[in-house]
Amino acid sequence: MKQKNKFETAVIHKGYDSTVHHDSLTTPLYQTSTYSFANAEQGEARFAGEQGGNIYSRLGNPTVRVLEERMAEIEGGAGALAFGSGMAAVSAILVHLTKAGDHVLCSRGIYGCTFGLLSIMEEKYGITHSLIGMIDEQQIEQALRPETKVIYVETPINPTMELVNLRAVEAVAQKHGLRVVVDNTFSSPYLQNPIDFGADFVLHSATKYLNGHGDVVGGVLIGADAEEMQLIRMTVQKDFGGIMSPFDAWLLIRGLKTLHVRMDRHIDNAEKIVEFLQGEQAVNRILYPFDAGHPQMALAKEQMRRGGGLISFELEGGKKQAQEFLNALSLIKIAVSLGDAETLIQHPATMTHAVVPPEEREKMGISDSLVRLSVGLENVEDLMADLAQAFAQIKSNLQEI
Ligand SMILES: *Cc1c(COP(=O)(O)O)cnc(C)c1O
Repeated sequence: MKQKNKFETAVIHKGYDSTVHHDSLTTPLYQTSTYSFANAEQGEARFAGEQGGNIYSRLGNPTVRVLEERMAEIEGGAGALAFGSGMAAVSAILVHLTKAGDHVLCSRGIYGCTFGLLSIMEEKYGITHSLIGMIDEQQIEQALRPETKVIYVETPINPTMELVNLRAVEAVAQKHGLRVVVDNTFSSPYLQNPIDFGADFVLHSATKYLNGHGDVVGGVLIGADAEEMQLIRMTVQKDFGGIMSPFDAWLLIRGLKTLHVRMDRHIDNAEKIVEFLQGEQAVNRILYPFDAGHPQMALAKEQMRRGGGLISFELEGGKKQAQEFLNALSLIKIAVSLGDAETLIQHPATMTHAVVPPEEREKMGISDSLVRLSVGLENVEDLMADLAQAFAQIKSNLQEI
């Protein structure tokens, strides 16, 4: 048997054989909507599923398929499907796993648009959901309802960095026959592989770390069962139609080749910035999974290989001071999204989590003085210098009051 490639090799080689692509070293871009059959019988055989081969790009494309195979490999899954956005992947798996009257149990924080989607599903189809902390089995078990079918989690939770205990989720799911979906966007497959902890499905907004260059919106769904993934390809994905374009897949294949190199540098920089923030008196609280001050650091070290490239921190003052701090930065850009080469900062209370009612935000631990930093690949001294001059500016503003 051929030995399974290690992560760094798989992101560069898996799923591509140059000998069947005119010896092209890199994966060609098959920018085509359809494929011609050699004869009518071949067309019939392909439609009947008796013969493999291409039919139409909504059902599969050779460029997109390379990306899918690579993602399945590095997440430890048996199959993967690429979508036109992270949300197209989220909606496909939720539609696949639920029917009217079911209940979805979610971690205490989920991506804003996932929350929006669940609200639509509740209103239109009576598929309910609830959001809870998932620290241990008891907490999860207590929140189950007779109609619960799916546990849907993100860990670490954005932007509070609270963790979900993946082993506890799996234990409860096993016991009650529930399906588990993990949005692994924040960690990337380099840091955390939820299928190893028993998850049935893992999904990514490929827009973030997987691509890493801020020029693609895409999503990937990985599953532990190859047959079920093929079923999703030929039902929800084909009929809802949220597929990835060949060009976006081509850009993602290119971005993915450096995932491990980029992640290590994102994290090296983030660790130095955490240390820098610890010495900064205008910072009240730092939220970073591998920081000794994080209440779940031990769990983080069990589930994740390193702490990641995202840091949230609370500043002295309120919304006004947080906005002043963002405005005082110059190298660091004010933007949502994450995982790009550029360091980005955002203010969750007025940006990514503005739709969450203030009482809910408070319960989740998102205060008006919390900011989230997506640490990029720039020189870390330059980043710290930018932060330092911004801290100096808000301090002098505070003194003027
Ligand atoms: C960005 C993001 C999404 C949505 O992905 P899109 O590619 O923007 O559709 C889902 N989950 C998380 C955690 C994200 O950060």
